[in-house]
Amino acid sequence: MSAWFDTDEMLIGGSWRRAMAVLPLENPSTGQSMGAIARGTAQDIDNAVAAAHGALAGEWGQMPAVERGRMLTRLGRLVEERIEDLAFLEAKDVGKPLSQARADAVALARYCEFYGGAADKVHGQTIPYLDGYTVYTLRQPHGVTGHIVPWNYPMQIIGRSVGAALAMGNACVLKPAEEACLTALAFARLAVEAGLPDGALNVVTGLGPEAGAALAAHPGIHHISFTGSVATGAKVQQAAGANVVPVTLELGGKSPQLVFDDADLDAALPFLVNAGVQNAGQTCSAASRILVQRGRHDEVVARMAQRYAALRVGDALDDLEVGPLISASQKEIVEGFLARADRLDVVAQGQIMGSGGHFVAPTLLTGAGPDHELARKEIFGPVQVVIPFEDEADAIRIANGTDYGLVAGVWTQDGGRQMRLARDLRAGQVFVNNYGAGGGVELPFGGVGKSGHGREKGFEALYGFSQVKTVAARHG
Ligand code: NAD
Repeated sequence: MSAWFDTDEMLIGGSWRRAMAVLPLENPSTGQSMGAIARGTAQDIDNAVAAAHGALAGEWGQMPAVERGRMLTRLGRLVEERIEDLAFLEAKDVGKPLSQARADAVALARYCEFYGGAADKVHGQTIPYLDGYTVYTLRQPHGVTGHIVPWNYPMQIIGRSVGAALAMGNACVLKPAEEACLTALAFARLAVEAGLPDGALNVVTGLGPEAGAALAAHPGIHHISFTGSVATGAKVQQAAGANVVPVTLELGGKSPQLVFDDADLDAALPFLVNAGVQNAGQTCSAASRILVQRGRHDEVVARMAQRYAALRVGDALDDLEVGPLISASQKEIVEGFLARADRLDVVAQGQIMGSGGHFVAPTLLTGAGPDHELARKEIFGPVQVVIPFEDEADAIRIANGTDYGLVAGVWTQDGGRQMRLARDLRAGQVFVNNYGAGGGVELPFGGVGKSGHGREKGFEALYGFSQVKTVAARHG
């Protein structure tokens, strides 16, 4: 593995430490070993939490907001200087085609820039109250924040959660996913280089049920940001609940794009397909359901099929349209969905060019009713179903008919319909005549229902990573 650092070290209290044991690191494009990462323990988490408390009691806790902002901006510049290195690492580690990994590295730099610039722009309020009083609010950090992130978009998710938390003056303990944590470690190297005080950012790698569970349950944590599956999110919320710690949950989705008869299909088509196969469909906001008004259904299916037939799947470093899935077990899950869908019509599939990796051909299906499992469950693979609808009411009923509510896309020229759907679709983000799977540093993001609660990205995240204190002074 040609990382520019030792992959089996963790950052705790400003120093790089090894664990008692290691975990294997696999390249999903080849199935081959790439070395090892540290298997952090509950004790390592305990040390990291203690180091974060130390940072708050020291230089980091005293640092003016403008200085914190400069620190993050400097970190963003260092990320920018290493875009190619970071993209290479992410491509090897996640199996993400190089140009998609590069876009994530650019987003990480942009998060640092955005939150660096915002750090000193979050203000309290003055509140008119009784005669003889002055009342104002202070926005203060929670204290020590825990960040548990998944393997599919490590750089983007670290940028949006750790970036916002640091901007507000929290000290962070980050637990990246065991499947892909190299860019988390690289980011930590750059944070040290940027001059972040010891303990302000700690990174403990390891297994979810070990290091992750220890972080979620730690009584010294004041806020947890979790991004991952619904099942794990529920466990994290329960563990944090025992300590009465607030939790932000960014979970899964079954996001639809709705195509009405009057849609501009030339504009829609790239978004309809890309939002399903980007990162091999392993995107929380993947548009895995394409709902099409009856009159354009066959045309949309035919034109999507053309695009599917041109999709090539291969090694992330070959930078084709689609890379491998993250692991053999993820591939098995996706193939299981496809095997159970034998009554559906496979309209088109992409082509697998590589061998040895966890490759699955992108697959476009029709014939699934809104209650079919492919239309309701998160697949997390390059699979999309096209479902017809009759009218606006039918479209909203189908779109809102899953347990999830993360993102929705609407394709129509009718202004009134755009507004009605933006209001009525059950989702944290609605895109009108576009679709932004994964993107949008400035745009608040998060779910309703089983997609989670709380918002990250944009300015909104800064409110989530801080709390309000009210000061009421009686002076006569
Ligand atoms: P996962 O829940 O298995 O793992 C996510 C993280 O949780 C990893 O770091 C893992 O080590 C940790 N973890 C596992 N068990 C734990 C436990 N018992 N206690 C504490 N931490 C534990 O999820 P995954 O399979 O890695 O990621 C895929 C899921 O993430 C999908 O459902 C996807 O939709 C979701 N996701 C959501 C968003 C979003 O922003 N809404 C973004 C990316 C991914």
